Amino acid sequence: MHTATFKEIKAGKVTDVYFQRTKEILKKKGIRRRVAVEVTTKSLPEEWSWAVFVGLEECVELLRGLRGVDVWALEEGTLFFPSMPVMVIEGEYTSFGCYETALLGILCQASGVATRAARCKKAAAGRPIVSFGARRMHPAIAPMIERSAFIGGCDGVATVKGAEMAGVAPTGTIPHALVLLTGGAAEAVEAFDDIIDRTVKRIALVDTFSDEKFEALSAAAALGRRLYGIRIDTTPSRRGNLKEILREVRWELDLRGFRQVKIFVSGGIDEKRIEALNEFSDAYGVGTALSNAPTIDFAMDIVSIDDMPVSKKGKLSGVKEVHRCPVCLGTWVTPKGYAPKRRCNHAAPCKKLLRKSIADGTLTKELPHPQTIRKSVLKQLALVSLS
Ligand SMILES: [Zn+2]
Repeated sequence: MHTATFKEIKAGKVTDVYFQRTKEILKKKGIRRRVAVEVTTKSLPEEWSWAVFVGLEECVELLRGLRGVDVWALEEGTLFFPSMPVMVIEGEYTSFGCYETALLGILCQASGVATRAARCKKAAAGRPIVSFGARRMHPAIAPMIERSAFIGGCDGVATVKGAEMAGVAPTGTIPHALVLLTGGAAEAVEAFDDIIDRTVKRIALVDTFSDEKFEALSAAAALGRRLYGIRIDTTPSRRGNLKEILREVRWELDLRGFRQVKIFVSGGIDEKRIEALNEFSDAYGVGTALSNAPTIDFAMDIVSIDDMPVSKKGKLSGVKEVHRCPVCLGTWVTPKGYAPKRRCNHAAPCKKLLRKSIADGTLTKELPHPQTIRKSVLKQLALVSLS
């Protein structure tokens, strides 16, 4: 596989060569200074007003064991805004500087995927969404994509390894291959019903050979009350007006007493499509929009050297603290040790969001399970809007 192993990443091989050269120069010149670096982003993609911080667990794996290194970070699943530090690393520069490339890569991609998932979940207004995006990215990173998508709010993930990573059972319906090989939508869902464990929901795929409405009705007739739902994944060239197709399918199913049959839509789904289809759709499979989510352009910058504030132009120097009102998610960044100039009137005390996760190379506490992190994301999502 054309992928780096954890051992190679930990050995600093996936680094931009200028960090390697910098390390060599500093070592040979005897420059050993303790720095604090912070990870921030100036802006978010696609005019997002917030994003979800994910990737800490992998960063911690890279940084643990480094003598003299301390790490403060947001907890995974924390909503963040531009110009807000999400991670601070302190230590002798040459002991961790060469990890900048890998650390940013982890955080930029995982947080982008989690944010897209959160936006889709918010748009779906309570309807379930499932991550179908593994096939759009290299298989070596599919588990990371699905863990991030799950944390961001997906209710399920499609791949076996991704589900294992998220700590849930994998979710799936019926592929077009099974419909083609069994001869029709009803035949496929009947075969599925015969063979697959009763605990798995029966969801027929109704867009392979003929019209979605007639295939949905034949699947419903074949399985009766055992049919949980139908999935529509119509190829774009045959879609016409998808919302009208869904309206028609819903109408015909209801008219014939199949009101319990859910409509599941996949193919080209993102938060905008979700908002447009919510009237008739009960659940979504989201693929490319998740796996190909824009990355968050995090940067890592020195903000102090030997406890003296210093930074390049365009960056605020000094180690900072992030304060958040738990009621409105109002967030204020101050120099470390300063009280926030709060601009909301809520009585609840602000929380400090940067928590120490590594002290002198050692993990300070067990990291939470993806299900716990996801619950915290959903709680915060209730307090923000999509725009
Ligand atoms: Zn507040």
